[in-house]
Amino acid sequence: MSEERKTLEQRAQMTDLERLRHSASHVLATAILKIWPEAQFAAGPPVENGFYYDIDLPHRISPDDFEKIEAEMKKEVKANHPFEKIEVSRDEALELGKQGRLAALGERQEPSKFKLDIIENIPSDEKISLYRNGEFIDLCAGPHVNHTGDIGAFKLTNVASAYYKGDEANPQLQRVYGTAFKTRKELDDYFAMLEEAKKRDHRKLGRELELFVFDDDVGPGLPMFLPRGAVIAEELEKLAKETEFAAGYQRVRTPHIARESLYLKSGHLPYYAESMFPPMELRREDDEFENKRKRFDELQLIVDSKRESPDEYSEFKQLQHELLESDKYYLKAMNCPHHHKLFASIPRSYRDLPLRMAEYGTCYRYEKSGELFGLMRVRSLQMNDAHLYMTPQQFETEFNAVNEMYLNYFKLFGIDKYLMRFSTHDPAKLGQKFVDEPELWKKTEEMTRNVLKNSGINYVEVPNEAAFYGPKIDVQAWSVIGREFSIATNQVDFAQPRNFDLRYKDRDNIDKIPICIHRAPLGTHERFIGFLVEHYAGNFPLWLSPEQVRILTIGDDSKLLDYARSVLNELRAYQVRAEIDDGTDKINGKIQRAEQMKVHTMFVIGKRDMEANAVSVRVHGKGNLGAKPRAEAIAEILQSIRERHA
Ligand SMILES: [Zn+2]
Ligand SMILES: [Zn+2]
Repeated sequence: MSEERKTLEQRAQMTDLERLRHSASHVLATAILKIWPEAQFAAGPPVENGFYYDIDLPHRISPDDFEKIEAEMKKEVKANHPFEKIEVSRDEALELGKQGRLAALGERQEPSKFKLDIIENIPSDEKISLYRNGEFIDLCAGPHVNHTGDIGAFKLTNVASAYYKGDEANPQLQRVYGTAFKTRKELDDYFAMLEEAKKRDHRKLGRELELFVFDDDVGPGLPMFLPRGAVIAEELEKLAKETEFAAGYQRVRTPHIARESLYLKSGHLPYYAESMFPPMELRREDDEFENKRKRFDELQLIVDSKRESPDEYSEFKQLQHELLESDKYYLKAMNCPHHHKLFASIPRSYRDLPLRMAEYGTCYRYEKSGELFGLMRVRSLQMNDAHLYMTPQQFETEFNAVNEMYLNYFKLFGIDKYLMRFSTHDPAKLGQKFVDEPELWKKTEEMTRNVLKNSGINYVEVPNEAAFYGPKIDVQAWSVIGREFSIATNQVDFAQPRNFDLRYKDRDNIDKIPICIHRAPLGTHERFIGFLVEHYAGNFPLWLSPEQVRILTIGDDSKLLDYARSVLNELRAYQVRAEIDDGTDKINGKIQRAEQMKVHTMFVIGKRDMEANAVSVRVHGKGNLGAKPRAEAIAEILQSIRERHA
């Protein structure tokens, strides 16, 4: 935690809202002193979403005190006192501190001990200033709003303990938190948003709706999907497969591990090593191994010059096998190197391009434990990955098609707040941060920019943030509760095809290097499902619902149960995820249970429904829709699933 004093430069950069919130912390101190005149104050800065003040006070402040404190704060705001800045000499400041006059309403018996300590730490060349509102005077470098009345709306939110300057050797203080806004409406909106965000938190809903779990024996950051969560992953995968098939992609499958040499070739090692799990060591570093390696190199030369005897050849193959076996293996952190190898495995001609290779590949990344967060930051990830290989002439069309795919997905999921960030290189950093290909950078960036402009996509250009191997586009989306997610990426790559010596024979019979696009419109299952859980608040559309239909019987008459089960079987024959609740308890209890699990559609079946060959339809969040002929109700379900209705 940084408890450093703000520099003058940082203070000058305070936003209007930070200024307002910091001013509110002075008002908080004023109010506390009106109630507990002996209170001593340490630091009171603005923080993300609000402000705090650290207080030393024998009385233990609890949330029960907030109303009383807020009432005093209101008086101070209503009085509309100006915030006056008073410049003083160091000696004057020290004298006031000794008189207990700093962070106080008047002189006191006890000196303002923390303020005296703070004065000692102000650089000697820095001017010392006080701020006054009403009777309250504080040691402060500002800045502030003009009057206490400029603080439109505020609320105390929390009290916690904190050590002075964040150091455990120092006294423990009480930290009272609050937040403030220009208007009452902004304050209300903020709390409504927090309430909604809490309800929608994917970690909470993930547990309640039985979607996914973490387990200490499996390991941190390694989510496991329960049946209800696995269903969502599979539906997304189905969507991707259908979409990609229609767009001319081909599917491949690759292992989860590879030898070290693959990642040396791709350049991920050593640069990316920190983000990869440590290797599995199968290599023996001893003399015997070294001798074998030397012998292998000798034989390699002989074999290359085609002078080997049959015995030498078999010794060569034997050693090759042993050396390959004894090596370091890494869990893959990305799918590209495997895909590049698949591209290189067959001679390619311009007629094979564009070649679009897709895989929902599982990757492993060693995220720091402090950075793990629910499904949003994990260590195992299943990625909606694909690599597109093309000629430079095909680039614009291909890149555009990828962007179109993004937009179609966003429409399907009702994501209407998104921004594409187009990251470009910095010519000054060629050869260091960016691969040294000035012409290719210029060309691909120009092409990418054109695609974005021509398609009228909402984007911003961010210089100096491209990937090492080419310009990229990241998509940031905002969920309905305003949470920001980076869910997808679309990258141009002209370095890796070179590293892997990828080639295709062009019309002129000359070998050329393809351009590669890495793209993952649905991101990873983990992050995208986390996003969708919060986006829909767990109320998934029918096609994505873990349980699409639940049949609820009224009573347990055996003929009625037979009818209900025949409806269940019909739904399942159509691949609808249907369950039945045919217990003897009351229908209201059954409905409540289904609503709790956010089951999309309920077919309530009583005697009258049976006699009419009908079902009574109830939809989660919409309530009772009345009785419908069985065939019609089922047909509507099937259509909604097939067309992936919102
Ligand atoms: Zn201040
Ligand atoms: Zn890739």
